[in-house]
Amino acid sequence: MLIDFHFHAFPDELAPRAIGSLEDNCHETALTDGTVSQALARFDEWGVDSAVLLPIATKPAQQQKINNWAAGLDGGRIISFGTVHPDSDVLFEEMHRAVSIGLHGFKLHPDYQGFFIDEKRLDPMFDEFERIGLPVTVHAGYDPYSPERIHCLPEAAASMIKRHKHLKLILAHLGGNEHWQESLDHICGTDGEIYLDTAYSLHIPDSLLLKMIRKHGADRVLFASDCPWASSAATKQKICSLPLTDDEKDLIFFGNACRLLKN
Ligand SMILES: [Zn+2]
Repeated sequence: MLIDFHFHAFPDELAPRAIGSLEDNCHETALTDGTVSQALARFDEWGVDSAVLLPIATKPAQQQKINNWAAGLDGGRIISFGTVHPDSDVLFEEMHRAVSIGLHGFKLHPDYQGFFIDEKRLDPMFDEFERIGLPVTVHAGYDPYSPERIHCLPEAAASMIKRHKHLKLILAHLGGNEHWQESLDHICGTDGEIYLDTAYSLHIPDSLLLKMIRKHGADRVLFASDCPWASSAATKQKICSLPLTDDEKDLIFFGNACRLLKN
């Protein structure tokens, strides 16, 4: 079984524009046209059984609409997370509404949502995530949208984690896109339900990836591609090539995801 814990798609009517502007921004070619149907077609080709949709509200006013859309897609092969914007006037209401409509977790993107991961003003939000008990995926490390100011660096994430010991946190891109050595030093081995996803990390040296998995534990690493920006098949191949046991690979490919999604 293969569960991809990180993919992006957009409502059909918005997909062409969303993908176009992201491609311009990232200087990357997307592997889908941004629609859910094409993501599912890729997952067929790549051997992915189910995948976690991670939508992002870049403005507070978008969050309800996006969450309703994500909830409508949930079920079958798609496992939908919701999104909230930390600046929303109805942040807590929307967090609870997202739970009530069946969303399985939350996605935050510090660069797109304009916050730094260790800001004290966010403590009430993370406290509430701890009470709710659902996993929260946070973009970590470099993002081409804000290349000069990285809003979630491993050391800053570690200081937030210290204040929120019960948070189920997934740090995307192995704890810090392009900042993997810092992630190894500051995040790997940290106690608690702290997970690393493997999204968009095909270019990390294998030796460093192996060190990270060994230090953090294969029971806290989640297989993830970041489709449409990387392929699940290539990501799977990279992990398969590492000298991990079959049990460790099973945890990464689906075991941890199943445990985490069970609530
Ligand atoms: Zn992503």
